[in-house]
Amino acid sequence: MKIAAVRTHLLDHRLETAFESASMRFDRRSHVLVEIECDDGTVGWGECLGPARANAAVVATYAQWLVGQDPLETTKIWATLYNALRDQGQRGLTVTALSGIDIALWDIKGKHFGVPVSVLLGGRFREQIRAYATGSFKRDGVDRVEDNAAEMAARAAEGFHACKIKIGFGVAEDLRVIRAVREAIGPEMRLMIDANHGYDVIEAVRLGQAAAECGIDWFEEPVVPEQLAAYREVRVRQPIPVAGGETWHTAWGFREPLETRAVDIAQPDLAGCGGFTEARRIADLAALHGVRVVPHVWGTAVHIAAALQFMAAMVPSPVRVNPVEPIMEFDRTHNPFRQAIVTTPIEHVAGMVAIPDGPGLGIEIDRAALAEFAPKE
Ligand SMILES: [Mg+2]
Repeated sequence: MKIAAVRTHLLDHRLETAFESASMRFDRRSHVLVEIECDDGTVGWGECLGPARANAAVVATYAQWLVGQDPLETTKIWATLYNALRDQGQRGLTVTALSGIDIALWDIKGKHFGVPVSVLLGGRFREQIRAYATGSFKRDGVDRVEDNAAEMAARAAEGFHACKIKIGFGVAEDLRVIRAVREAIGPEMRLMIDANHGYDVIEAVRLGQAAAECGIDWFEEPVVPEQLAAYREVRVRQPIPVAGGETWHTAWGFREPLETRAVDIAQPDLAGCGGFTEARRIADLAALHGVRVVPHVWGTAVHIAAALQFMAAMVPSPVRVNPVEPIMEFDRTHNPFRQAIVTTPIEHVAGMVAIPDGPGLGIEIDRAALAEFAPKE
């Protein structure tokens, strides 16, 4: 079997109501899928995290080294492509684009052998996974405190056991939001906060010290991802466990944060850190350093399916009678094509998500939906 063609599919939707994290404004949803077709007709799908058109351009660059290769040789292809752009690459778009390619190759490999990717990764420790709801962005024209509290109360009513809210807009207002959300969801539901690297150390420490009484599971991306010493300072000077890693790429990118204990929870993104091939190395490295892994997820059903396959095969650390189970990030913001692009949507039932057990990623793409959400301008 040889790779015959590499294609990308842009997906785009202009939002009626824009929303913001601390570091970014979203007025549209834009994602890119990678499709790799083999000479026997087998097709694999992947997705890249980050700017869709820029990722597509890098995937097109990699395509010259992909066509004619054996798609089952995932590690060899990863090393070859990474090396091809290494001197000007190493992280960023060169790795996010490679991630989408790698996911598609593992999808092909699973289909070729007739098993889910999770089986290829070593076996399924679980058949379903608890999801946590991500939302509570800052929306235009509404009171953020009331809006976030109402949104998360609705997530609790849907059956989610945990939710994550967006902060990083100013310590005083963020504390009002956190307290209002905790009040709205009650004392039992787990609550995480995500600053999207919107704070400096002084703000993050002050926020963490004050918010800890609200029972916070983790404090995500308190400071910019390049500042590992600042991460470590936030971790030791306030009581909430610190999480991060959605913008760290490859095992090289995770090595220093893990070795120097910059985070309590590492959050590699399957569609960003280098795909299955590299996420596995990162998870192994994290396990060696005693750091918990909770993958970051942000994208379409392709990305969600990849994360589910990976998390199905994550080894409990430690293995015990009632192990700490990974939890799955479930973005609840508006995205009309998130599930429309697959024939069977991946949804939660009372906060639980079943891990697809079909070959590869276990999903089927709806090509009519790809055409429907292709950019019109
Ligand atoms: Mg985040």
